[in-house]
Amino acid sequence: MTAGAPKNAPVTQDVLTLPRKLPEGGKINLVGLTREKMREVLIEHGTPEKQAKMRVGQIWQWIYQWGVRDFSEMTNLAKAYRAELDKVFSIEIPEVVSKQVSADGTRKYLVKIAGGHEVEVVYIPEEDRGTLCVSSQVGCTLTCSFCHTGTQKLVRNLTAGEIIGQVMMARDDLEEWPTPGAPKDETRLLSNIVLMGMGEPLYNFDNVRDAMKIAMDAEGIQLSRRRITLSTSGVVPEIARTAEEIGCQLAISFHATTDEVRDVLVPINKRWNIDALCQALATYPKASNSERITFEYVMLDGVNDTDEDAHRLIALIRQHNIPAKINLIPFNEWPGAPYKRSSNNRIRKFADIIYKAGFASPIRTPRGEDIMAACGQLKSATERARKSKKQIEAEAGLG
Ligand code: SAH
Ligand code: SF4
Repeated sequence: MTAGAPKNAPVTQDVLTLPRKLPEGGKINLVGLTREKMREVLIEHGTPEKQAKMRVGQIWQWIYQWGVRDFSEMTNLAKAYRAELDKVFSIEIPEVVSKQVSADGTRKYLVKIAGGHEVEVVYIPEEDRGTLCVSSQVGCTLTCSFCHTGTQKLVRNLTAGEIIGQVMMARDDLEEWPTPGAPKDETRLLSNIVLMGMGEPLYNFDNVRDAMKIAMDAEGIQLSRRRITLSTSGVVPEIARTAEEIGCQLAISFHATTDEVRDVLVPINKRWNIDALCQALATYPKASNSERITFEYVMLDGVNDTDEDAHRLIALIRQHNIPAKINLIPFNEWPGAPYKRSSNNRIRKFADIIYKAGFASPIRTPRGEDIMAACGQLKSATERARKSKKQIEAEAGLG
């Protein structure tokens, strides 16, 4: 079935062999399952093997192309089959607990996932596109000293369903599911995904990969892999796998030009240093057939923002021959943060040196600062509310 014609597709007249009892532990959520896994669970619960592939295709399109959450609306499946599916399976995404809209249009959602945990998701509208900043973990195992999420311990990895569910939730809120028969809208409100929310995506590799595969699937959300950017702090052994198994754009939280400084800002550097990281980065674009790597560089007053830093950064990129652009991020403050943002003049000078060396050096405009939605400010509100400023400072190593 292709876009625009669900009601004309053939209605199935299956022999129903689905068992009537509920699986242990409640209904099975279909959201986040790979096609293969969905096929397995359908067969396990009574869909005839011969039909399973076709049923996956149909259900898949209802869920990911049309945004349907109720089996009864899947009109190209026999009524009785829909009823049986409904007994065993569910189509669930994280629940929105609260939504804040910034003066600049940025939306921050707090969503609740199983176990009562919460993560933040941010939608950033721009003139010609809209980017959803998706979280991959509740908290983070890493402790980058400038990052608010890093002050929250890892609670758990998100499932693939919870990751792709954030995208589905945002499409609900933006009212962006297509209507059957309507002309295809080429300018999407949600046109890009960045894995730059809470957590280190490469420490939750399989779930992130499965979720992004769903986002890219041609019979669903259909985002090109060029519109998906994964940001990592530098989990070197997973970079080659990212190229092979996901193939999205890569961004790297670089932030420093000497191991001495990077060890403090991005402590994973003690495990895989700048040289090891650059070697892994150099092979990425070719291996993934993707474009330039984005070097994210947070501008911290007096810490990593000198002219020498800019020159060292250029030298490193040239030495390793990495196709790169450098995204300068003005530091976003959070309560108890041990750093200050570099001045605008300093940031401009730094950008200028890089630009004159032949690399794009855009300065990221902080978005949604008034609602604590900007980069590095995310941390679940419950955590925030529970902790006093003193505790936060103590955790940031200032107490
Ligand atoms: N864990 C991944 C992705 C999440 S962080 C990573 O580290 O890349 C997303 C981006 O926000 C990273 O580049 C991170 O370095 C940056 N960031 C974190 N805290 C920040 C802050 N307070 N101000 C500006 N950028 C920040
Ligand atoms: Fe974790 Fe990324 Fe924050 Fe570092 S910058 S603590 S890796 S979320």
